[in-house]
Amino acid sequence: MKDLKLTAKNGNGRTIVKVGKTEVGKGFAIIAGPCSVESEEQTLETARAVKEAGADMLRGGAFKPRTSPYAFQGLGLKGLQILAKAREETGLPTVTEVIDPRDVTWVSEFTDVLQIGTRNMQNFSLLKECGKTEKPILLKRGMYSTIEEWLNCAEYILAEGNPNVILCERGIRTFEKYTRNTLDISAVPAARELTHLPVIVDPTHSGGRASLVEPLSLAAVAAGADGLIVEVHRNPKEALSDAEQQLTPAQFSAMAMKVRKLHKAMEGI
Ligand code: PEP
Ligand code: MN
Repeated sequence: MKDLKLTAKNGNGRTIVKVGKTEVGKGFAIIAGPCSVESEEQTLETARAVKEAGADMLRGGAFKPRTSPYAFQGLGLKGLQILAKAREETGLPTVTEVIDPRDVTWVSEFTDVLQIGTRNMQNFSLLKECGKTEKPILLKRGMYSTIEEWLNCAEYILAEGNPNVILCERGIRTFEKYTRNTLDISAVPAARELTHLPVIVDPTHSGGRASLVEPLSLAAVAAGADGLIVEVHRNPKEALSDAEQQLTPAQFSAMAMKVRKLHKAMEGI
């Protein structure tokens, strides 16, 4: 990969992205929460549950990039205010997606981490705006993108002066239909050997089914991932988006325990 300058790994030093008390790239970071912020009660209840289960950060979308323009688009400002309230109550730092370059500055005031979604990975204006902030950026891999294209997008952010990038493998489109996307597990060690950036996995949008979240999470740990971002809803059946793939708080709690155990065991190998 000839064009990587700022993200390229040289030597053994790895970037650690600090988000509150969590150091992404050191230990194993778990981000959990609903696909979308739907209401104050739903978000707060889920936030309390994921905190109780040992999550390090809370996720929740206020701007939803939906395939259909008629699907729930997120609560926007109100969603960000709810997320900020959940952070205040639980102390969990928050992660939320930003989809428009014009929103980067003001959305930054409500959250600890800005997420760039798969559909916006190559939105170069958005990458540049995010690069001008000091906020940690969670950069998802485009569902049609090569590893090289993905890493070049991280390069855009670093080139603007923001070194705080967390890479996220979230599955790519293949001919397989049973799963929503195909988790490219090889992207985890590949991105870690090519760059010094932390690499996390989204087992939720890759498999697209709640039953696959735990095995994919364990595979991510075994592949050397630095963390996970997982969708959890207090009542997945009633979710306004991604109902079939969100975990209940109880499922998440059981999964997080296994993930932590495996990560600990891996440290001894
Ligand atoms: C999300 O995490 O809310 C999301 C929309 O994910 P992706 O961009 O990976 O589809
Ligand atoms: Mn989702």
